[in-house]
Amino acid sequence: MTDSPYRSNDLPFSRRTVVGGALAAGTLFSIGAHAAAGLPQGLFSLGVASGDPEPDGIILWTRLAPQPLESDGGMPPVAVPVRWEIAEDEAFSRIARSGMARAEPHWGHSVHVDARGLRPGRAYFYRFIAGKEASPVGRTRTAPARGAQVDRLRLCFASCQKYEAGFYAAWRHVVAEDPDLILFLGDYIYEGAPNSKDAVRLHRNPEPMDLGGYRIRYATYKLDPLLQAAHHAAPWALTWDDHEVANDYAGALDEGNGDPVAFLRRRAAAYQAYYEHQPLRARPPRGPDMRLYRTLDWGSLAQLQIVDDRQYRGPRACQPDGLVEAHKPYRSLVAECADLHDPNRTMLGAAQEKWLDARLVETTAQWNLLAQQTLMRQSVKHYQDDAAEYSADNWSGYPAARERIFRQWVKAGTSNPLALGGDIHAFAAADIADPDRSDGTPIAAEFVGGSITSLRVDPDFKRLAATNGLAFAENEVRGYGRLDIDAKSGIVTYRGLADARREDSAIADIARFSLEAGKPGLHLETV
Ligand code: FE
Ligand code: CA
Repeated sequence: MTDSPYRSNDLPFSRRTVVGGALAAGTLFSIGAHAAAGLPQGLFSLGVASGDPEPDGIILWTRLAPQPLESDGGMPPVAVPVRWEIAEDEAFSRIARSGMARAEPHWGHSVHVDARGLRPGRAYFYRFIAGKEASPVGRTRTAPARGAQVDRLRLCFASCQKYEAGFYAAWRHVVAEDPDLILFLGDYIYEGAPNSKDAVRLHRNPEPMDLGGYRIRYATYKLDPLLQAAHHAAPWALTWDDHEVANDYAGALDEGNGDPVAFLRRRAAAYQAYYEHQPLRARPPRGPDMRLYRTLDWGSLAQLQIVDDRQYRGPRACQPDGLVEAHKPYRSLVAECADLHDPNRTMLGAAQEKWLDARLVETTAQWNLLAQQTLMRQSVKHYQDDAAEYSADNWSGYPAARERIFRQWVKAGTSNPLALGGDIHAFAAADIADPDRSDGTPIAAEFVGGSITSLRVDPDFKRLAATNGLAFAENEVRGYGRLDIDAKSGIVTYRGLADARREDSAIADIARFSLEAGKPGLHLETV
């Protein structure tokens, strides 16, 4: 290591603190300490982030990547000590907590700090220090105290930010909203190869199939200054959809019904890269498995039930015989068949469904926000001759599983349930009816908050939305949703960009819905 290519410099903190507890770990860590003294510059190219707030804690994230478009981030293959600080003021004169973390090469030199001992319901500032460098400063917020009366929650929810389809003007506007929390509902990256058709910029590497490839893909996205600014402005809570791994995958099957063993290897790489790049409280993945579903409480005002509808999916509905065995592409639009309504068919998997059922019973929150991936309302393609086709990739392909959630809301008496979703690259809003009543009595409402950039070119979309009974549908505008709630009422506002292909795009309200606690259903207001 004497001929290290890295510049030698001093650590801004006591080296004894770093090495002290780690001598027993032996050579690796002493090499790590050495490496920290001579790290390449530009360690914090991917910014910082915070997420999954609790009343006394927050997850702080960064990843050291001086060469972010290389599979190892340009880091030496050794563990590196990283200091973290969280303070009450932006100048860091009142540090609330601080400590040391280790950025491990096995985890792409990412750092996930569970900063504890914080005060509930207040803003904090945080940063990291490694080598001679300090990271950008992020602003975050703890959740209110458990059960506390909370005046209000402002949450922005978003999904589907295909890098090639546009710039991230939406994130600039999210920052200006000063939300308490940003909820991201999937398709943070897209896995496709660079494709210049309709692109404003190109993916920087071929379609990722392994960990190195997925790291480069995340770095491509995370280098965007507007996306970084959104992470620097507020805590995030995230779940994934399909494109964090591969288009339309279901459990162990990709869209081509390829060899499941090979696909699970790919899924393991994709899940690891996801973990390495997000401020998640979740435990790291083990191979192709990672538990992402969880709750997040905002005092007595709201609970988010954040679910994962990809990892545990059962077989797709109404597929022609032999497709899976022959490794032929799945059929995405299917005619009704005998097994469509089979109660054994599952979107969340048995364990997660059981978990969700229990949360919906136990919650005492005024509003219960189901943070899921896609449109829950029936979306059937109707044809002139009365034939209908169902999407095998969303809830319409798993109707019994969907209705179990709706019935549980009723049976458990879950207070003011709302579903928030993404995936369809369009804004949509609809009442959710009681499946056991034919009069269409609403028991909840759902909101799909558009897409940050991803397109849905479908001249038939609005007509089909109307035949499916959606209260609102808009697929020609990109943007995000904003939810403002207090104990008695709420407003969901859809924010639409003038042009997602421009970094400086203006934004405007394109729809507004009012909600009243105790009166399920949405009310469309004119904007
Ligand atoms: Fe998408
Ligand atoms: Ca999707």
